[in-house]
Amino acid sequence: MSEQIETLCGRSVEVAEPSELAWLWETCASCNESAHLLVASES
Ligand SMILES: [Zn+2]
Repeated sequence: MSEQIETLCGRSVEVAEPSELAWLWETCASCNESAHLLVASES
């Protein structure tokens, strides 16, 4: 079972195991940077 999710820059990607963080590592470099900032600010 997979799920379609949207990255921080609006791309749609399919993830095999949806989880809180799985999609972060599928994104492009700028998304990745934003994602890390997001995670850092939430913890
Ligand atoms: Zn991106």
